[in-house]
Amino acid sequence: MTEYREEDFLMLSGIQHFAFCRRQWALIHIEGVWEENARTAEGRILHENAHDAYRSESRGEVVISRAMPVFSRSLGLSGECDAVEFRRSRTGIPLPRREGLWTVYPVEYKRGSPKEDPCDALQLAAQAMCLEEMLCCAVPEGALFYFETRRRQHVEITEDMRETVRRYAEEMHRYADRAWLPKPKRTRACKACSLKDECLPKLSRLPSARQYNEENLGGDSE
Ligand code: SF4
Repeated sequence: MTEYREEDFLMLSGIQHFAFCRRQWALIHIEGVWEENARTAEGRILHENAHDAYRSESRGEVVISRAMPVFSRSLGLSGECDAVEFRRSRTGIPLPRREGLWTVYPVEYKRGSPKEDPCDALQLAAQAMCLEEMLCCAVPEGALFYFETRRRQHVEITEDMRETVRRYAEEMHRYADRAWLPKPKRTRACKACSLKDECLPKLSRLPSARQYNEENLGGDSE
């Protein structure tokens, strides 16, 4: 099994960008482009508020750790969990200065409402896999909290999701090693992309076959 060095770790949150569009991921994580628009600004502020509330707290049988740093040497990813809930249980792991055993349940905060695409769930799965590696435990489930609906969506971390995270992490490292920026390809995702103004102008400036023909050859393309 590959073990990545710490200096080669990539940002865990990049999994959601990579799942959305490989070019978007490369623009952000290789080229360093980040066009903050209203939606990303709102998301950032909501995340900051979620983190700032308190870093850890106990609520009865649940201990919540906020902004918990996580990493995985096998995935070569590192990042932060918005919240990790340790729930007292008959199985699980021991916690320092606390009695009993505790299960581990990551919660990721998202602006907006639940989406049809799996990007958010894959980010949560990557966090669960990091926690499993760090704490030597099973993390079979977690939750996504959406600010717009103010609802939690329970997510089971399936073997399919784990396989996708492993594949994406490996691919991300291959792209990063070659500093490869995929070419733009207009898809339905482009409409909701925070980087479309950075990414697509060159595409939209390309003349159509008709324009090129008329301007350069003085004729019709048909
Ligand atoms: S505009 Fe489209 S092709 Fe460009 S980064 Fe966004 S989703 Fe990808």
